[in-house]
Amino acid sequence: PLVLGIETSCDETGVGIVRGTTLLADAVASSVNDHARFGGVVPEIASRAHLEAMVPTIQRALDTAGIKGSDLDGIAVTAGPGLAGALLVGVSAAKAYAWALDKPLYGVNHLASHICVDQLEHGRLPEPTMALLVSGGHSSLLMTTDITSDVRPLGATIDDAAGEAFDKVARVLGLGFPGGPVVDRMSREGDRKAIRFPRGLSGPKDPAYDFSFSGLKTAVARWVEAKRRAGEEVPVADVAASFQEAVTDVLTRKAIQACRDNGVDHLMIGGGVAANSRLRAMAEQRCERAGIRLRVPRPGLCTDNGAMVAALGSEMVWRDRAPSALDLSADSSLPVTEVSVPGQVLAH
Ligand code: ATP
Ligand code: MG
Ligand code: FE
Repeated sequence: PLVLGIETSCDETGVGIVRGTTLLADAVASSVNDHARFGGVVPEIASRAHLEAMVPTIQRALDTAGIKGSDLDGIAVTAGPGLAGALLVGVSAAKAYAWALDKPLYGVNHLASHICVDQLEHGRLPEPTMALLVSGGHSSLLMTTDITSDVRPLGATIDDAAGEAFDKVARVLGLGFPGGPVVDRMSREGDRKAIRFPRGLSGPKDPAYDFSFSGLKTAVARWVEAKRRAGEEVPVADVAASFQEAVTDVLTRKAIQACRDNGVDHLMIGGGVAANSRLRAMAEQRCERAGIRLRVPRPGLCTDNGAMVAALGSEMVWRDRAPSALDLSADSSLPVTEVSVPGQVLAH
């Protein structure tokens, strides 16, 4: 199936076009620079930027793929979770195109899309697959046997998401926003064993598949503050590398444990934090040792984009899943278990 996917859940206006599991176009316009001076994404600015970027980005994707709207088998869009106003821009655009072109509309879950995008790189997901979803708003262990209909949460963060922790630590270190990429870069020059930061929820009595990053974030802030108060220079690269080590240590250990306990031998890592070079390297090492097959999409497909939505839309069409009604609405807190938002099925 030939599917166009629209993503506007946060600050990226993404439009992707996919044929089956082949990526034909991945156009992304980001408003990230407009938010930098506020130290975080400002919802109103994001919505306005999506409005301005929507039509040109769709056009750019169609041009790159060398197809016309009438060639499509369906239009997929992120229906949630995300920023309400931002989601609304994408959902409205998708509905308008679906109606005008008389194509089925698929309102899909952003988190399932972060998993399904891997199909564009490594082919169809094995069943079952364990997914470690680590992004700006989520950190979860999910088991799936069918990415269009069966996503089972095994555990999740009880406080901050992994990406959020990267962003907050970057702020403490004065590295700017978004924090993930810059902490990743700084860490390459640092010693990851320099400081032993706490590994949250890693005790024998702690829940095996849940995460906690807020204690780690506080520990980093306290450590940096103490250095500053003592008038000493903060070894930024060492702090970044040691923090990153603590996050990736817990993430990979728990993900592999979840695979073992559930007899799953394929681990997929998705979401913006999956772009992290240390997480990728450590996961590769540890999975190899554990006899688990690892699948991580290339970094550009880990952060938000339209290709991931198109990938899930294509899978929906391929599996003959019901499309959404044209009265589809965005759901900013759509649960991860709801892979698609069916609504009423309209006749086509
Ligand atoms: P969600 O998917 O939960 O709705 P989101 O869409 O805002 O949240 P993503 O775009 O998937 O999040 O990921 C963005 C997050 O990924 C940010 O917190 C960012 O700092 C982090 N990130 C991006 N690149 C890296 C990296 N190389 N290392 C670590 N973190 C990274
Ligand atoms: Mg973003
Ligand atoms: Fe995301």
